[in-house]
Amino acid sequence: MKFLPIFFDIVDRPCLVVGGGEVAARKVRQLLRSQGRVRVLAPSLCVTLQTWLEEEKIEHIAGKFAANALEDCVLVIAATNDRSVNENVSRQAKLRNLPVNVVDDPALCTFITPSVVDRDPIQIAISSGGASPVLARLLRARLETMIPSAYGRLATLMRDFREKARQRFPSITDRRRFWEQILQGPVAEMLFAGQDTAALKSLEEKLDDPNSQPDQSGEVYLVGGGPGDPDLLTFRALRLMQKAEVILYDRLVAREILELCRKDAERIYVGKKKDQHAVAQEDINQLLVDHARAGKRVLRLKGGDPFIFGRGGEEIDTLMEEGITFQVVPGITAASGCAAYAGIPLTHRDYAQSCIFITGHMKDGLLELNWDVLAQEQQTIAVYMGINGVEHLCRKLIEHGLSGTTPVALIRQGTRPEQKTFISDLSALPALIASEEISPPSMLIIGEVVNLHHKLSWFKET
Ligand code: SAH
Repeated sequence: MKFLPIFFDIVDRPCLVVGGGEVAARKVRQLLRSQGRVRVLAPSLCVTLQTWLEEEKIEHIAGKFAANALEDCVLVIAATNDRSVNENVSRQAKLRNLPVNVVDDPALCTFITPSVVDRDPIQIAISSGGASPVLARLLRARLETMIPSAYGRLATLMRDFREKARQRFPSITDRRRFWEQILQGPVAEMLFAGQDTAALKSLEEKLDDPNSQPDQSGEVYLVGGGPGDPDLLTFRALRLMQKAEVILYDRLVAREILELCRKDAERIYVGKKKDQHAVAQEDINQLLVDHARAGKRVLRLKGGDPFIFGRGGEEIDTLMEEGITFQVVPGITAASGCAAYAGIPLTHRDYAQSCIFITGHMKDGLLELNWDVLAQEQQTIAVYMGINGVEHLCRKLIEHGLSGTTPVALIRQGTRPEQKTFISDLSALPALIASEEISPPSMLIIGEVVNLHHKLSWFKET
């Protein structure tokens, strides 16, 4: 059957729901969201409906269904667990040409309710025509991830400026072009990033400036790609990855993650090649500026979180100086990813009340860290880039008071299918690392919480 998709105005109009259980409550919630005046007919109400009755959100007609309850209603939903009652409701409604829905019984319905992606005032309704509500729900979940939650605010902004845009661009073609640019350009991105005031100001400026030309400015997205498992990307990261025309990435970004970027984007590798130096930070900063200046949307894709040992601060510093629009998208940092996948909580009421993230990267053969602060009981230390300096690191922690038996986890290729966790302690770790092949990237977690790995590890390592 092919239903007619329509959106129905029920604001302040009486809608009848027959049934007082949780299923009925679900339907009532939908009707309330569209501001219908809801009457629930049932001998008794479940807790949810009872609460809404007390809050005066709904009316209650106590008792059994009789046809006179249908009078003056604009639609009716039957949600009882008694098929004969549902049938009767359906029959009586059809006699009166009243739209009727019977939950989970398509044969008795004259309308069905779709799965909805709600970005008020935008609504996307999905229906499988009753064939597979589960599939419709799955589709909905996919759309939910693809459509930024701020789309509703974007639509509202456009509505508020419709008249002004009509005056500024009398030709419909110009107007369409203008809105297309707004929707795909920095104004929309500002809104998605929660900068509503800046978005409003920028839109106003564009409409007020009689000489304003189509926007040619590019922008930069500094995005955290997480520790490796592509499912750990944020919705926003994925959306910007599919939007950017130029991508600057380095070694830490997993191949599966890069594959999720827009296929026709220019990809620029700025990490270290074998036996070669990485592209210098200043050069990366300049590349970002140059491509944005050329009007491109540029993605700076980083492993983990861009603000944790990612030099993200330096990159946006340059962008800020150059007046280039940018946004920063946080990612799951390696410490969180590795800890979660190794079954090691970074804090725990009994074993660690604090957690410190440090870099184990040595400068001139030395680690300049505040050892007294690090060598504390009841604290977890997450060490990034700690493999080369491990001998120095362990020795210093022991010298400053930590026991040689303090447990340490080394997590190699965390969150990826190749993940491997090695458990050791401060005294034995350097020898372990020397004897195993520890391919990067690897993370160290030091502290009593590591003991929980044996009990809590859930991710199956090969
Ligand atoms: N910005 C990144 C960290 C960059 S420093 C973040 O927030 O995660 C690079 C170091 O991160 C590596 O040397 C390693 O110690 C750690 N690291 C990154 N990804 C990792 C992974 N999947 N498994 C283990 N360690 C990882």
